[in-house]
Amino acid sequence: MTCEFSKFDLQPQLVQTVADIGYTEPTPIQSIVIPAMRAGQDVMGQSQTGSGKTAAFSLPILHNLQTGRQHVQSLVVAPTRELAIQVADAMQTYGRQTAVRVLAVYGGQPYMRQISRLKKGADVVVGTPGRLLDLIRKDVLKLDRVATVVLDEADEMLSMGFIADIEAIMDQTAPSRQTALFSATLPQRILRLAEKYMNAPKSFKIGCKQLTVDTVEQRYYLVNEADKLAALTRLFEIEPITSALIFARTRLGTTELGNELALRGFPAEALNGDMSQEARLQVLNRFRDNKLKVLVATDVAARGLDIDDISHVFNYDLPQDPEIYVHRVGRTGRAGKTGIAITFLTPQERWGLRRIEGFTNQKITRMTLPSAEDIKLHREEQLVEKVMVWLRRGRCNREREIVAQLLEDGHDLAEVAAVALKLARAEEKQRPIAPLKAVADFGAQAPGPALKRSNRRKGRGRERASHERGMVRLLLSSGRSDGVRVSHVVGSLSHFADIPGRSLGKISIQNQHTLVDVPEKLVGRVLGNGANYRIGNKNVSVQRA
Ligand code: AMP
Repeated sequence: MTCEFSKFDLQPQLVQTVADIGYTEPTPIQSIVIPAMRAGQDVMGQSQTGSGKTAAFSLPILHNLQTGRQHVQSLVVAPTRELAIQVADAMQTYGRQTAVRVLAVYGGQPYMRQISRLKKGADVVVGTPGRLLDLIRKDVLKLDRVATVVLDEADEMLSMGFIADIEAIMDQTAPSRQTALFSATLPQRILRLAEKYMNAPKSFKIGCKQLTVDTVEQRYYLVNEADKLAALTRLFEIEPITSALIFARTRLGTTELGNELALRGFPAEALNGDMSQEARLQVLNRFRDNKLKVLVATDVAARGLDIDDISHVFNYDLPQDPEIYVHRVGRTGRAGKTGIAITFLTPQERWGLRRIEGFTNQKITRMTLPSAEDIKLHREEQLVEKVMVWLRRGRCNREREIVAQLLEDGHDLAEVAAVALKLARAEEKQRPIAPLKAVADFGAQAPGPALKRSNRRKGRGRERASHERGMVRLLLSSGRSDGVRVSHVVGSLSHFADIPGRSLGKISIQNQHTLVDVPEKLVGRVLGNGANYRIGNKNVSVQRA
């Protein structure tokens, strides 16, 4: 099989492997980066997830590796454990015919395992900044003979507060090294980093093709995990839904959500892999014929679903993979129609949103959920609208006779009309407007009115008690005056304590300190890490508030 990768003059095993994997031609980023890195140049570029950048830097690195060396030959620095593992796996795959030894190192994993692997020898180390620095300080990771350093998703590392760590790592490498830097955006701080550590880099920018269509309006709402159902029912009140597809993460989630919605007066059914083929077909047919307006599905169950008329897609849970987001959103706005894609985002999922925006090359607009007042107003407007329809239509002869009788009995006309309206809206009682708790904001944006109000109500003493059940409030010794942002807190705790960022609850950044809610069962892990927390280049202590 011919493969366009041959033109890069890479080792034949590498060309063979990419051909075996099924890559027939290089992506634009690979066409730029592979020749430049093969020629020994530094490269710096704007690119997104999904552009093929991992192979772009991995193939030249693998090509240059020398077998049987005892020192680390290449280093990849990545912002998160997930990305580090992903890159290490990809490198291992691309290099499977070259016997490369790739080691991923990240916080949370015991040091011993990583140290013994390092001692056995690793050609390529892929790691998160904090753990790399720890291993350097323990004198087990030596970078003085590293030939190539890759800084992957540099802007993510910047916003997680890792820039000082990166500089400390770069200072350990030989000035003669080759450096490649990849970033979705290039803020000043990253450009300064490049200036300091890179040698006349070849710059490039890869425009990502737009993956979602303009006929779909994409919005997101910031909600607490526990408030998602309340948020959904609020939106159902005011959105002009003709047909909605809601994506939930699990099969159980679809069934529960379908039931909960039905209980609240919004008939919905689930579609999931637990159902028999016949039951699935029946639900699908009812949805297709618009006898059923709301379908709750998992990604897997919705795979074969081919319906053009869906007005709304809801991402009840944020998809982990940007490609899944594109798939879901593509269910609406079809066949020349417009559509609305709504995503619920918990405060800890900020990174997921940015990845999706980077991948689709489109902004998702933040919106505020309708308030109880908005919903009441909307309900009244709809009631008046219905009255107007019947006023135009007439044909209420029998009802007029009843009214005439009531007037004859001495009742007031306006009072009779008001009572009739009250009866007409009695069904609203089945749909109480569920309350919403304030949401911890991202820090960068101004808190919404609900948050401001609730902050005012809280006294200083109450500030320290956690309000969510099952959460414990911890106190961090840094605050706004140290430049702490929500992203730093999430990044630092998840990295150093090895807990999922999304498990954290409310984060409240005060001037001198920060309060963060941590699930009870993870508190031991967070506190058990001793005083090993750093935000930026500052040590931070963590204790119970
Ligand atoms: P990345 O941006 O490195 O995360 O890559 C995104 C996806 O594109 C991965 O699933 C790769 O396997 C795939 N990929 C990378 N290069 C190519 C290529 N030349 N042809 C087809 N797929 C590719």
